[in-house]
Amino acid sequence: MSNQPIPEIRVGEGWDVHALVPGRKLVLGGVEIPHGQGLLGHSDADVGLHALADAMLGAIGAGDIGQHFSPKDMRWRGADSSIFIQHIMTLVAKKAGRIVNADITFICENPKIGPHREAMVKKISGLLGISADRVNIKATTTE
Ligand code: MG
Repeated sequence: MSNQPIPEIRVGEGWDVHALVPGRKLVLGGVEIPHGQGLLGHSDADVGLHALADAMLGAIGAGDIGQHFSPKDMRWRGADSSIFIQHIMTLVAKKAGRIVNADITFICENPKIGPHREAMVKKISGLLGISADRVNIKATTTE
């Protein structure tokens, strides 16, 4: 056993649900997916990045995404949710924190997530400044 002190380790959890509707582009995990329908929301409604944002905010005790990016604020209308993650990364850094890994689960019947997994991992690992093997994307249906 090492006598090294264990650094503080924090874990956060996030959840998000948006309705799929026609006439919107679909963005999941920071990746635009051709689908014919998109998620309804004030920003780009990327449930993957929103859940990640809430998990990160949870880990640093900083509330939730709605407190930082009000859906009433016109600045965030149609916003790329990557900017939420970028801002939260600055909050993490202010607390001298760093992200070690992210594990994201999509629950949906369609589209299939598998073909987009690699692109999501690349995008999210870039946003978090960590290697691709520290980002995991999972998917399940409600079957
Ligand atoms: Mg959301």
